[in-house]
Amino acid sequence: MPDIQEGMIRKRTRVLVLGGGFAGVYAAQHLEKAIGRRDDVEVALVSKENYFVFQPMLPEVISGSIGLTDTVSPLRRLLSRTEIHVREIESIDLERKVVTTSADCAACRSTPCLSRTSPTRCSYVAG
Ligand SMILES: Cc1cc2nc3c(=O)[nH]c(=O)nc-3n(C[C@H](O)[C@H](O)[C@H](O)COP(=O)(O)OP(=O)(O)OC[C@H]3O[C@@H](n4cnc5c(N)ncnc54)[C@H](O)[C@@H]3O)c2cc1C
Repeated sequence: MPDIQEGMIRKRTRVLVLGGGFAGVYAAQHLEKAIGRRDDVEVALVSKENYFVFQPMLPEVISGSIGLTDTVSPLRRLLSRTEIHVREIESIDLERKVVTTSADCAACRSTPCLSRTSPTRCSYVAG
């Protein structure tokens, strides 16, 4: 996304992380750390749930030694600088760098969503 500042156009890099599990959350955390205070890179993460589940602790939930909520963390708490989108990913076009998702999320319902491309779909462009 271009950013116009003092007459110059700076290109912003948009990184889109898919999935809020171990791979997605740790990738986004590493990116947040690597980017630091830079404002020419933005990170967004799309996942169908707004929480991360620490799966290795699930057997302890079954055995009753910990509660289910002890294994769950909200994505927004883990990723303070990442834009979180809670949606179902429907297609990934690597060549065009476009990801299409469902549009039925809280953000779409409460605010005008810039990613929304039809009544039922959102499109994200990475690059
Ligand atoms: C009970 C249990 C115990 C385990 N113990 C260990 C262990 O001790 N050590 C170890 O190394 N590994 C362990 N594992 C395996 C480990 O949890 C997985 O290898 C790891 O979770 C894989 O990470 P991932 O990010 O690839 O996938 P996941 O963690 O499954 O994350 C996938 C993410 O993508 C999201 N997603 C998927 N499809 C869509 C879609 N269409 N639209 C939007 N979002 C989507 C999901 O909601 C999820 O957030 C265990 C697994 C289980 C189930």
